[in-house]
Amino acid sequence: MAVPKSKVTRAKRGMRRSHDHLVAANPNECPNCGELRRPHHVCGACGHYDGREVVARVEEVDDEAA
Ligand SMILES: [Zn+2]
Repeated sequence: MAVPKSKVTRAKRGMRRSHDHLVAANPNECPNCGELRRPHHVCGACGHYDGREVVARVEEVDDEAA
């Protein structure tokens, strides 16, 4: 088993972890429906991309139907 040569101090550990954080998403407004969507991604609300519908969306999903 590999054994660390020396203990990493709290300070060094903290320096390393100072970059361990999540970066917030950068959403844009969909030009078709106004929903927030990720840049360069198809809109999840209306299925539009680059001014046209590329994914057909069902208007209402009936989850009561078996
Ligand atoms: Zn949209």
